[in-house]
Amino acid sequence: MSDCIFCKIATHEIPTEALWEDDDVIAFRDLQPKYPVHLLVISKAHIPSAAALEEAHDTVIGKVFRVGAELAKQQGLGEKGFRLLTNSGPDSGQEVHHLHVHVLGGERLHPL
Ligand code: AMP
Repeated sequence: MSDCIFCKIATHEIPTEALWEDDDVIAFRDLQPKYPVHLLVISKAHIPSAAALEEAHDTVIGKVFRVGAELAKQQGLGEKGFRLLTNSGPDSGQEVHHLHVHVLGGERLHPL
């Protein structure tokens, strides 16, 4: 989508340090981290939110979660733990309407 900020990151129209990148997925640091470790993993293809997922997205979403877990372990969170989270829709507080998984950790996270 032409006006989607995460699509622009995915195509490098907005330069961002990629922590992981392949043909399907890119991961980068959250601009305003809320935890000591706060990364984002997105599919390069524009998917507006979890509510828009279809069966055709199963593979890329599996990869988004696997990459999130691998990056969390690279950040040293394998033993202490981490959270992979995606917001969907207004009640969740979703701000960017391109599906993204937050990789959160580095301190004790509030219980859900
Ligand atoms: P959400 O509320 O789940 O939609 O989260 C959107 C997240 O994207 C927030 O944590 C923002 O800080 C983050 N964010 C917005 N713009 C950028 C950007 N250009 N680069 C990195 N993170 C961003």
